Amino acid sequence: MLPTDETLQSIKTEGDRESFYECDVDQGSERSQPWLLDGNIIIATDTRLFRVHRGVLCLHSQIFKDMFSSSQPDAALMVDDCPVVHLPDSGDDMYHVLQALYDRSYSPAYSDKLPFEVTAAFLRLGKKYMIDHLYKEAKDRLASNFPTTLVGWDLADARCSGSWSVSGWTHHALTLLTANLARETQLLSLLPAALYSASTLCTARELVHGVDDCTTGAHVLLCPENRDAVVVAHDALRELAVKTYGWLMRLPPACRLPGMDGCLDKKRTLLISLFYPKRVCTPLDEWDDAWEDRLCSECAAEAKRLHEAGRRYAWSQLPQVYGLPKWADLKD
Ligand SMILES: [Zn+2]
Repeated sequence: MLPTDETLQSIKTEGDRESFYECDVDQGSERSQPWLLDGNIIIATDTRLFRVHRGVLCLHSQIFKDMFSSSQPDAALMVDDCPVVHLPDSGDDMYHVLQALYDRSYSPAYSDKLPFEVTAAFLRLGKKYMIDHLYKEAKDRLASNFPTTLVGWDLADARCSGSWSVSGWTHHALTLLTANLARETQLLSLLPAALYSASTLCTARELVHGVDDCTTGAHVLLCPENRDAVVVAHDALRELAVKTYGWLMRLPPACRLPGMDGCLDKKRTLLISLFYPKRVCTPLDEWDDAWEDRLCSECAAEAKRLHEAGRRYAWSQLPQVYGLPKWADLKD
């Protein structure tokens, strides 16, 4: 896909200038790696300067290619005899992206973890500058933790946080950070699973006031849009959980246990343990074999079938629960 004039203009507008080249270098900006002595262009961001090659940037990004061809450098604005291009991006994000473009080992094999900050930089700038392989890597890593299918969700759930493909934060903080990043970059397909994770992992106080991350010492807060979504979702999740666990209220005619109530007494005991004093609000809970042991074979088979049907229904409704379009319309 080719960048549109609007895309290029938006990059200019963010920097509030007519030309990519027309800028003063911020005296506070520091020279940062990659700083290559044979580089022929200086990328200037809010905090860092990078000396790199136009040709390498153009090779990876049609946006850079069009940017350089649409604007000519001003000879008065040079650093080390190289023209300066000011970009309105975070210096740290640009650092991660340029390091990855120049050093293949900077982005480890997919089986290894990548710090969240690097993943976020790949997603943000990969999308903005159409550096497709970095965008795809970041998206795939995050999607493996926050998938778009129930099968994928069960796999991710089974792996737990120990095998997350991004690292550097606690599971709680990563969930909130990913939800915010997905909202910021409009990668909406990540949001249902990320917001459901937030709803089920965090307390109401953490959802509204944020979590303290013991790994980094940072305070992580949901962005206002995500915070509203998880608060509004609470009632819908409870209703979906009641549907998933609806088998607890049923006595199938084929129940094999003698007596009027059959397996119902055992189901009532289970119902009380699950819904009292704290109600279950997790409609995607997997079937627990321990429940099966308490029921006759007919009731167990029906309960398992209804539970799975309830989970599938809950998954199908998950985007709407968080105020998003249906799965089929959830385009990135
Ligand atoms: Zn029974």
